[in-house]
Amino acid sequence: MGSAASSGQFPRDGRPEVAFLGRSNVGKSSLLNALAGERGLALVSAEPGRTRLVNFFRVAGAAGAAGRFELYLVDLPGYGYAKAARAVREGWEKLVTSYLVGRESLRLCVFLVDARHEPTEGDETLRAFLDHHRTPYVLAATKSDKLGRGERARRERELARGLGRNARSVVAVSAADGTGVEDLWRSIREAALAAPAARS
Ligand code: GDP
Repeated sequence: MGSAASSGQFPRDGRPEVAFLGRSNVGKSSLLNALAGERGLALVSAEPGRTRLVNFFRVAGAAGAAGRFELYLVDLPGYGYAKAARAVREGWEKLVTSYLVGRESLRLCVFLVDARHEPTEGDETLRAFLDHHRTPYVLAATKSDKLGRGERARRERELARGLGRNARSVVAVSAADGTGVEDLWRSIREAALAAPAARS
């Protein structure tokens, strides 16, 4: 639908929104493309930490007995790029906060972490922020194709006890082999069709 550089440019049509958040290079663009079944939807970055815009993708789908649904998948800029200048980091915070705080149409966040790595300080800060604002989220462990089956299950359990302890669910995903994409769609659809929850 479009990209926004500030809150004045966010859509005002009230369609439900599901927002994607994570450290830069976590695999967010690839996952958005996998969810959409389209390669070129979100730009996969060769250079991490470049996107400083909030991108809105309007999606329509069928939800069985519930009929048709429409929503926005919202691509929020990634954080934690070590080489980013302070002004860029502060710009990130301002833009993302202006989106996350008080956004009535926001139904769910998909919080992405790399399945292979321990959560960073930035991940912990984001978790505390989402919990504080009572923003519902699912935790998605990306690039899980890089782990064997046993290791993947172990990481999912660890995340469910740790970073994802307050998440609605923890799901291992892979844009490369499609792992978890259907599960994630189910959570997204449910959240988009449900009545908005009270947040602060
Ligand atoms: P973003 O910065 O979070 O949007 O991350 P990108 O989607 O641009 O991906 C960052 C890098 O990780 C790219 O080199 C991708 O090819 C790679 N990548 C993303 N998703 C996967 C995945 O599911 N499996 C594997 N093996 N690599 C991935």
